[in-house]
Amino acid sequence: MTDLSPLDSEAVEAAVADALADITLASTLDELKEARLAHTGDKAPLTLANKRIGGLDPADKAQAGKTMGKARGQLNQAIAARQEVLEQERDARVLVEETVDVTLPVNRHLQGARHPLETMQELMCDNFVAMGWEVAEGPEMEAEWFNFDALNFDPDHPAREMQDTFFIQPPNAGIVLRTHTSPVQVRAALERREALETEGRGIYVVCPGKTFRTDELDATHTPVFHQIEGLAVDKGLTMAHLKGTLDAFARSLFGPDAVTRLRPSFFPFTEPSAEMDLRCFVCNGEDSGCRTCSGTGWIEWGGCGMTHPNVLKAAGIDPEKYTAFAFGMGIERTLMFRHGVKDMRDMVEGDVHFSQQFGMEL
Ligand SMILES: [Zn+2]
Repeated sequence: MTDLSPLDSEAVEAAVADALADITLASTLDELKEARLAHTGDKAPLTLANKRIGGLDPADKAQAGKTMGKARGQLNQAIAARQEVLEQERDARVLVEETVDVTLPVNRHLQGARHPLETMQELMCDNFVAMGWEVAEGPEMEAEWFNFDALNFDPDHPAREMQDTFFIQPPNAGIVLRTHTSPVQVRAALERREALETEGRGIYVVCPGKTFRTDELDATHTPVFHQIEGLAVDKGLTMAHLKGTLDAFARSLFGPDAVTRLRPSFFPFTEPSAEMDLRCFVCNGEDSGCRTCSGTGWIEWGGCGMTHPNVLKAAGIDPEKYTAFAFGMGIERTLMFRHGVKDMRDMVEGDVHFSQQFGMEL
C-alpha cells in the first residue's frame, strides 16, 4: 500500500469512505473503539497523511489542509454520532437485563430447622432400633422412688439434696424433676418383666429424654439437658456384652475406627461401674495438640456398668436368674465434641442460625 498523499483528494475521500463504513458497521462500543483507532490512531493512513502536510511546498499546504480538515471533520462527526447511538442501545439493554421485579413475592419468613439435639437423639436411638432394641420414655416429673430409691441411692445420698435436685412443692410430696433418665429404665423393666419371665424375651431398651439439675447456665452446664441411657436384661449378660454394645454404638456415630475404653468408677445403680471414654476420633490419640481431646487421646463420654442386683429387685427381676448392663451419656456433650460446638448456651438459646448449620440431618 502506497502512502496516502494529502494532495490526492480522491484517495483521501476513498479512505474516508472506508472509515465511515467501518464506523457504521460497528455494532458495539468496543467495535467502534477499534474502528476509531484504525482510522484516527497514530498509525492510521489519514493521520499519517495529515502529518505530511508539514513537508509540502508552501503553495500546496492550503489545499492539503482543506482536504484533510474536511476528512477529519467527517470522521469525528460520524464517530460521535455512532457513539451516541451505541450508548443509548447499551443503556436500554442494561435497563432490561438488570430489571428487578419488585412485585415478585419474597420469602420473608426464615424456614426453620429441626434442633440438632433432636436429630442427634434420633440418630442415637436409630442405632439401637436397628439392633432390635426398643425406645422407652417416661415422665419428666418423677416420683423420688423411681429417681433415687429404686436405683439404689442411699436415703442420705448427696444427690438427693436440694442444691442438686429440683423438688416439686410441697417438699414432702416425694416428687422431683428427674435428675437422669435412669428411672425410665426401672419403669421399662417393670413393664417388661412378665414377658422376660414367661417368654424369655430379654429386655433391651434405650431411654432418651430431658433431665434436670440445679446448675447455672454457662458454657458447659445447663439446668435442663438431655441424656440417653440403655438397659439390657437377659440371661448371661456380661461386661463383654456391654463393651461390645458400646463399641458398636461408637462406630455408628464416629466411624468404623471408633473404640471405647472403660475406667473403674462408682455409681449406686451399677456394680461394677465404669466411666466410658471414646478414643479421640479426630487425632486417634496421635496429636498432643489436639483440641478435641486436649491431647489426651480420649474423650470422656459417659458412664456404664453391670446393673446392681438391688435395682433388678426393685424392678421385680430376680438377680439370681438374670444379669443386666446399663449405660448413659449426655446428648449435649456428644453433640459438642462430635460437631465442635464450643458453648452449651448455643444449644439453649434457640437461634435458628445455629440449628440451620446442622441442616435436616436425621
Ligand atoms: Zn484428639
